[in-house]
Amino acid sequence: MMKRLQADVLVVGAGPAGMAAIRALLKVGRQVIWIDNQVRPGGQIWRGGPPPAWQNMADLPGLTLLRSHAVIAADGPTALVLHDTAQNLALRVEAPQLLLATGARERMLPFPGWTLPGVTGAGGLQALVKGGWPVAGKRVVLAGSGPLLLAAADTVQANGGKVLAIVEQARPAALAGFAARLPLGKAAQALSLRWRLRGTPYLHGTWVQKADGEAKLESLQLSNGQQVACEALGVGFGLLPNTELAALLGCALRDGAVAVDAQLQTSVKGIFAAGECTGIGGVDKSLLEGARAAEAMLGRTPSRARQHAQALAFGRALQSSFALRPELLKLADARTLVCRCEDVRLGELKACRSWRDAKLQTRCGMGTCQGRICGGITRELFGWADAPGLPRAPLQPVPIHVLL
Ligand SMILES: Cc1cc2nc3c(=O)[nH]c(=O)nc-3n(C[C@H](O)[C@H](O)[C@H](O)COP(=O)(O)OP(=O)(O)OC[C@H]3O[C@@H](n4cnc5c(N)ncnc54)[C@H](O)[C@@H]3O)c2cc1C
Repeated sequence: MMKRLQADVLVVGAGPAGMAAIRALLKVGRQVIWIDNQVRPGGQIWRGGPPPAWQNMADLPGLTLLRSHAVIAADGPTALVLHDTAQNLALRVEAPQLLLATGARERMLPFPGWTLPGVTGAGGLQALVKGGWPVAGKRVVLAGSGPLLLAAADTVQANGGKVLAIVEQARPAALAGFAARLPLGKAAQALSLRWRLRGTPYLHGTWVQKADGEAKLESLQLSNGQQVACEALGVGFGLLPNTELAALLGCALRDGAVAVDAQLQTSVKGIFAAGECTGIGGVDKSLLEGARAAEAMLGRTPSRARQHAQALAFGRALQSSFALRPELLKLADARTLVCRCEDVRLGELKACRSWRDAKLQTRCGMGTCQGRICGGITRELFGWADAPGLPRAPLQPVPIHVLL
């Protein structure tokens, strides 16, 4: 018999958005079930644990924290089925209100050699290092696009790795425009990051054309003609909102993110969304939206509308300044893997007309990641509007006995 829990509110996501919402909801005595598939609260930015002001939240009265629990299915408008990944059990949770704070993931693009051991996402590399992967003494390159490259380089360097270069595809003019529009606090953060990384070349308007190596990464070919010998490459082209759960629950999406109104209410009654799943904008946007969503769920008018407008403007500047250049979509050749779960190469996909056609003909997107990586890639490369398709339960692979 599946275990069942009930509360006033369910919150999915223990990153900054979920944390800000929880705090506001508990303050007024709401019973909250808080779900996250990681082992500790903090989300992507605070993987090693949140800063002091946000610690010890798990012990607050009224809160049931379900860590290492992944939402795998919906069982009604605001009822969810979870996979307890530590115990390998299924669990059903229900509440009249649900907040989605599911964050974002990295956007990947294929190029020859991108599946060699030693090549990871930029944020993925940062997460590995924060989790204890021994990077000391290793020669590392961070490449792709966006501020996450600097944050990841900082983590690698702080843990003893040698960052040979940060390779940013955006043009210098776009970067200068972005820097000029940064609010004071963010400009100070960016300057202090650059200062800590002052010995590291920052190559703008440049990208990795090819990664080479026999059994693992040995060197990189850059678009400026440089050859760089290294052991690790962290590469990412910005972030994509995690919208699978919202889509499964029937919430409308807009521009690849969960569509919300000024109250952070989605198109489905009782379901709210906050943070990077509603659009990329950084930690300040997530904290603000979490708090505002909680206010709306309590029947109040969300406060700090001006700061929210500023955070949204920052998100738009981020998207336009780090927009992908067309050359990046032409790096993969016919033999380059696009779907790495099912070993599908670019050459095989060229004959397909749509995402659905590709799934039927090649099994693209039907492996472990369920199109989370290759869905975004084929959308960019082929303009397939139906990629990555409507998600189906289970959202993540689960053992058969849990499904049963
Ligand atoms: C890999 C990576 C590294 C990053 N590093 C930095 C950094 O160093 N500095 C910085 O300023 N910004 C960083 N960012 C940007 C970061 O996303 C935001 O600044 C901030 O963490 C967003 O907060 P959030 O609460 O909206 O989402 P997140 O922090 O992403 O939190 C969402 C949480 O929801 C959980 N979740 C999602 N789906 C499910 C599900 N189905 N079931 C259960 N749990 C689920 C996730 O595991 C995650 O813990 C990073 C982003 C990524 C993708």
